[in-house]
Amino acid sequence: MAGKKLYEGKAKIIYTTDDPAVLLTYFKDDATAFNAQKRGQIVDKGKINCAISTYLFQRLEAAGVPTHWLETTGEREMRVKALTIIPLEVVVRNVAAGSLCRQTGLPLGQILNPPLVEFYYKDDNLGDPLLTPDRMRVMQVATEEQIAELRRQAERINQILTEFFASCAITLVDFKLEFGLDRQQNVLLGDEISPDTCRLWDQATEDETQRVMDKDRFRQDLGQVEQAYQRVLERVMAQSHQR
Ligand code: UDP
Repeated sequence: MAGKKLYEGKAKIIYTTDDPAVLLTYFKDDATAFNAQKRGQIVDKGKINCAISTYLFQRLEAAGVPTHWLETTGEREMRVKALTIIPLEVVVRNVAAGSLCRQTGLPLGQILNPPLVEFYYKDDNLGDPLLTPDRMRVMQVATEEQIAELRRQAERINQILTEFFASCAITLVDFKLEFGLDRQQNVLLGDEISPDTCRLWDQATEDETQRVMDKDRFRQDLGQVEQAYQRVLERVMAQSHQR
């Protein structure tokens, strides 16, 4: 049973439940890009992202990565552990794309080996700036130990997800993670993992437009947005039955 609305974000709504240690996440069809300057809807996105996130959280848990996921209770809703969110967006990049290309001039598609792990400050008013270790220290956004733990977990998650998506014939180009602390101060993975938060390229084609299976279809008006999300879900589910 959903309680009161605690927070409404761009893509999800968080409700309280009768257990203070548990929250309910509701996945909306709303889509935003460029710090909410572009807005729209992607039909059934909420259902698709809820299903993909559910499967990936379960897979990560099975591999020993602690996450906030507890149970998926409906097509668009999951029960999650209440966390104190660390206000960082942890981005892992295997292939250069997006802001990395814009800000550094690296060519789209350049392989990044070892993968790049970056920390952005989660603050819409500031435009989610890229942080340096020294800035994080001055801002006291997390302890140095916590930052080392975020990096370690992000790298582990990247290994697991890269391998899984490869088995779906999808390249995991980059993705964004959010973490929080439980009452015992353990670092847990939060938020969602979906085509909204990952760049996913179809390995079946090298065509730069056709291969895009993620929110870049919406950001760049490439069309076929719903179909791309649906195809990711189908491949993930087909692969989930393999093992
Ligand atoms: N990302 C996200 N939320 C954000 C910013 C980025 O989920 O607020 C994801 C994005 O979908 C991509 C990765 O993080 O998979 C890296 O994004 P990038 O920094 O390249 O930003 P963009 O080009 O999307 O502005």
